Amino acid sequence: MIPYGRQDITQADVDAVVEVLKSDFLTQGPKVPIFEQTIAEKVGARHAVAVNSATSALHIACLALELGPGDWLWTTPITFVASANCGLYCGAQVDFVDIDPRTYNMNPAALQDKLEQAEQLGRLPKVVVPVHLCGQPCDMAAIHALSQRYGFKVVEDASHAIGGKYRDEYVGNCSYSDITIFSFHPVKIITTAEGGVAVTNDDKLAGRMELFRSHGVTRDPKLMTHPPDGPWYYQQVALGLNYRMTELQAALGISQMNRLDDYVAARHRIAERYDLLLADLPVTTPWQHPDGYSGLHLYVIRLHLDQIKKTHREVFDSLRQQGIGVNVHYIPVHTQPYYESMGFQVGNFPHAEHYYQEAISLPMFQTLTTSQQDEVVRALRQAIAA
Ligand SMILES: *Cc1c(COP(=O)(O)O)cnc(C)c1O
Repeated sequence: MIPYGRQDITQADVDAVVEVLKSDFLTQGPKVPIFEQTIAEKVGARHAVAVNSATSALHIACLALELGPGDWLWTTPITFVASANCGLYCGAQVDFVDIDPRTYNMNPAALQDKLEQAEQLGRLPKVVVPVHLCGQPCDMAAIHALSQRYGFKVVEDASHAIGGKYRDEYVGNCSYSDITIFSFHPVKIITTAEGGVAVTNDDKLAGRMELFRSHGVTRDPKLMTHPPDGPWYYQQVALGLNYRMTELQAALGISQMNRLDDYVAARHRIAERYDLLLADLPVTTPWQHPDGYSGLHLYVIRLHLDQIKKTHREVFDSLRQQGIGVNVHYIPVHTQPYYESMGFQVGNFPHAEHYYQEAISLPMFQTLTTSQQDEVVRALRQAIAA
């Protein structure tokens, strides 16, 4: 089976992890701060806070922004459930904004309409989470302008987009947001097995995220309510969690970061070749907005079902049967039973639902060979043939 995504682990990665295994620190040692500094410098942010997953990064981002009961978090329906669940973890309510039919990202015009209505109802969101789907940056200038006008905070879910650029600057410099989060799950662009990071330019938000990542406990006398009792002393000043990244993960991440730009360039070569090879087929290949350079985590095609004598399901099943590990990203979150039980229903976000009926993610990872890619295309031709 050719998977839709997979990690690339080199001997240098293995050596870096083994070195940590033989060292004094498996956790809370020197590697995590080095990894954080590597990320922050690369993307152009002041601070990076590494954690054990992007889901944890979203959670501490929302906690740092003081999202809580009575507040609203808005995101896109076409994302992994974690982009929405972080609001529920904080006791807030969640709502969605429909997608742009060309980029599949949160549509700023739909966001503006919804904000106008929400203002009248006194239900404006506290946090909005745009997701850079497939690695393509959202229209951040428009979303940022709306955040200024309506007073909400912006957390970019850039789980798909590390190494991507928006208006010639790396995603993560937070020019248009308060916090940006990245994921290092093995299917993503670089990996730490499990892992994530939150980056920000705001000193206070960074400090709060550091607290929430590790029990709400501090050893910094400046954060304590009275002078330390002694050198052993620490204080719990917030209710935090244990979301720490290990030294093993950080060492792997530091090593992987050396190849980030090469990885994204390889993904672009693969995408360009797919674009050519699929040009005569009844499918829509990914459209790229000129403001962005995608991280290209995913390569999603949409089937022109009116020109194909097969259903979406039949094409998908045929690809899987032919050994192509295709997937669908994503099931609209509002149609998940957990969200339906909160009152959402099919019909709420028509562009997202239409996209879901046609989308298939083809294999896309840095080590995909041209012969594997030819096999994917051959299988797709076969799958959609009458
Ligand atoms: C993968 C992913 C997450 C969650 O990442 P983890 O590191 O697995 O917790 C969140 N949002 C999006 C859009 C993702 O693709």
